[in-house]
Amino acid sequence: MIARVSLEIALRKEFDYSIPAALAGQVDVGSRVQVPFGPRKILGVVTAVAEESGQANLKPIIKVIGAQTLVTAKVLKLARWIGEYYCCAPETALKSVLPEAVRKEDASWRERLFVRVLPAGGEFPKLPKRQQDVWNLVEERREILLSELVELAATTAATVRKLEDRGLITITSEISERDPYARETILATQPIIVNPAQAAALEKIKAAMKRGENGGLMIEDGKTKPSSMLHPLSSTFLLHGVTGSGKTEIYLQAIAHALEQGKGAIVLVPEISLTPQTVERFKARFSSGKLQTLVAVLHSHLSAGERHDEWHKIRQGRARIVIGARSAIFAPVEPLGLIIVDEEHEHTYKQEEAPRYHARDVAIMRGQMENAVVVLGSATPSMESFYNCKKGKFTLLELPERVDNQKMPYVRVVDMRQAMRDGKGPPLFSPQLKEAITQRLERGEQTILFLNRRGYSTSLLCPKCGYVANCPNCSVSLTYHRTEQKLSCHICGHNEKVPAVCPEPKCKNPAIRFAGTGTQKVEEVLAKLFPKARVKRMDADTMKRKDDYRHVLGDFRAGKIDILVGTQMIAKGLHFPNVTLVGIIYADSALHQPDFRAGERTFQLLTQVAGRAGRGDVEGEVFVQAFTPFHPAIQYARRHDFVGFYEQEIEFREQLKYPPASRVALLTLKGRNEEKVKFSADHLKRELEKQLKSLKDLIIAGPAPAPLLRAENYYRYQIMLRTRAMSALSRELAQIIQSLPLPEDVSLAVDIDPVSLS
Ligand code: ADP
Ligand code: ZN
Repeated sequence: MIARVSLEIALRKEFDYSIPAALAGQVDVGSRVQVPFGPRKILGVVTAVAEESGQANLKPIIKVIGAQTLVTAKVLKLARWIGEYYCCAPETALKSVLPEAVRKEDASWRERLFVRVLPAGGEFPKLPKRQQDVWNLVEERREILLSELVELAATTAATVRKLEDRGLITITSEISERDPYARETILATQPIIVNPAQAAALEKIKAAMKRGENGGLMIEDGKTKPSSMLHPLSSTFLLHGVTGSGKTEIYLQAIAHALEQGKGAIVLVPEISLTPQTVERFKARFSSGKLQTLVAVLHSHLSAGERHDEWHKIRQGRARIVIGARSAIFAPVEPLGLIIVDEEHEHTYKQEEAPRYHARDVAIMRGQMENAVVVLGSATPSMESFYNCKKGKFTLLELPERVDNQKMPYVRVVDMRQAMRDGKGPPLFSPQLKEAITQRLERGEQTILFLNRRGYSTSLLCPKCGYVANCPNCSVSLTYHRTEQKLSCHICGHNEKVPAVCPEPKCKNPAIRFAGTGTQKVEEVLAKLFPKARVKRMDADTMKRKDDYRHVLGDFRAGKIDILVGTQMIAKGLHFPNVTLVGIIYADSALHQPDFRAGERTFQLLTQVAGRAGRGDVEGEVFVQAFTPFHPAIQYARRHDFVGFYEQEIEFREQLKYPPASRVALLTLKGRNEEKVKFSADHLKRELEKQLKSLKDLIIAGPAPAPLLRAENYYRYQIMLRTRAMSALSRELAQIIQSLPLPEDVSLAVDIDPVSLS
């Protein structure tokens, strides 16, 4: 027998190896193996097993990693699709489906020493005092970790070994699974009685799961047909409901239904929402009862060992439910009945390095391949998903109200042009917002203030000669961080000292100015305006350690903080009943970026942030400060009107053929020499025009300098392709790119369905 192996070093080629007799029966499609490659030993994945090979003199596989195949046949198929659709080497796609800790062989099960009582035989010996103390403990516990025993009895391993010598106990080395949530106490919960809107949604999801049950066969008119012949995507749902409308309860009950059918589920949430509270809700529901199962968690804060253990619990079928960030979509759940993508509009589902996949879209593809139902949930769905509902590809499920009939917060838009002070520019806080904060402080209620820029000032400039402090490596200005007394670049991390006078040799003006506002300044101004208020700032600068986030939120919940100031870190998922006021300092900041999604992003952000207010008994109030108060993104957010926003936005997308009316492939060329990059981009454009003639609706725009022309010392030029037939374009692109001669110091990145154009 021979095995075809895809090696980890990207070669866009597979190689045949013989399966030595010693490994017979252990090698299958999906096995991770180590093979010789020239003088090296390389890891790879078996993609096929056959009787013979076209090649002679095959080298044998050296060894197999793991007791089971690590990449299941289904996940392998999914990886192949990713390679093709996202235009990357199959090896690159394959690499991303296994966590590093599983792919490499270094992390493995942790073995620990267990001490156990042996059945007593004969007369119990008289023990020295210290051994007797240890014995008492072991006898009481029957089974205990050696390390724990040594600590509890304040003794040494040698003393314990003496008891073993006497035949009283055994010490054995066994696998001890790591549990990243061992410290959380989890109380079991029961399903809630759902309201009519929830019931209607659940009904439809369950019906679709039933259709998927008999191997994708759907019974209609008494005849069975493959479900793909009927409604290819009708088992994809978009669950549109504001926060607090009971979406998570629907997820939980749909998962229960999958378990009843003997199937498992994958739940994707954005990394930032993977708080212990979220995880706990899922663990609690399935911690007991007849549907009891382990809930595995996969995210980036786990140690390699924890990730190894969580993953293998899934592979062994002991954990039927997986909750995790983006890459959890590749979890080897089998059979898979349900995939949930919460906050489906989140851009963090897109991986920003090859393979540049979008986990939501991979979820939909995986659902189709494995006959699993897919539920996308959001309070502010992406234009793409809502469009798919309109086109009949997805089924729309709506939860129009909050479960507890709480009102949506009242949103006031403050026209900052009217708050301008003569010659001094706009104040940070409008009189209205200042007054509202004062009231909250008096009533002992809490406030959240949102500004999506960290640092103190966003730029340093000289009013006399026009000098601006720019990053030497990137085409952006440096941000002033006052507490650290430095200027820093938010793209590449470059830092420098703050000059005391204008650095222009001919100018040397001491009156240099800081312009633009960041969260540090908000914090400072608050301290001046409200000296007694307890203010805390939450952004990437203050949240450096793993536990910072949890601490601050804990303090906020406990009422030890009056005003929380933060960046988008505070925009999501937080639920604090005592927050009755939310202030958005500068709502237009994301509106004027050169990206066709600027409006959509602003609408989502405003809606999400506004949703933080009024989660308790008191109605919430939101102040949106804006310089373009009548912009549709702001006005529709004010009215909590997603559909209204969608209707006007889709018109513009359709007119200009932007997604979801088409699909985009963004090609970015980068290199240190701007002329060379530009030249290569022009050349690529000509090749594309020549070779893509057959794609009728294709629009080729550019090359143009990227919105961020220079980043980390690389110049970047872009070509944007738009078409409805993306799969066809991907195929063609793969060919063109492989035969494209590029100068050595110019590289090309292909991003299919990009979420960011910078
Ligand atoms: P979402 O995920 O949309 O934010 P959740 O499912 O978290 O909403 O529901 C918000 C709160 O309401 C939770 O505490 C949940 O337990 C509770 N809840 C959900 N459905 C119901 C219901 N039908 N009746 C009463 N409480 C409910
Ligand atoms: Zn920089």
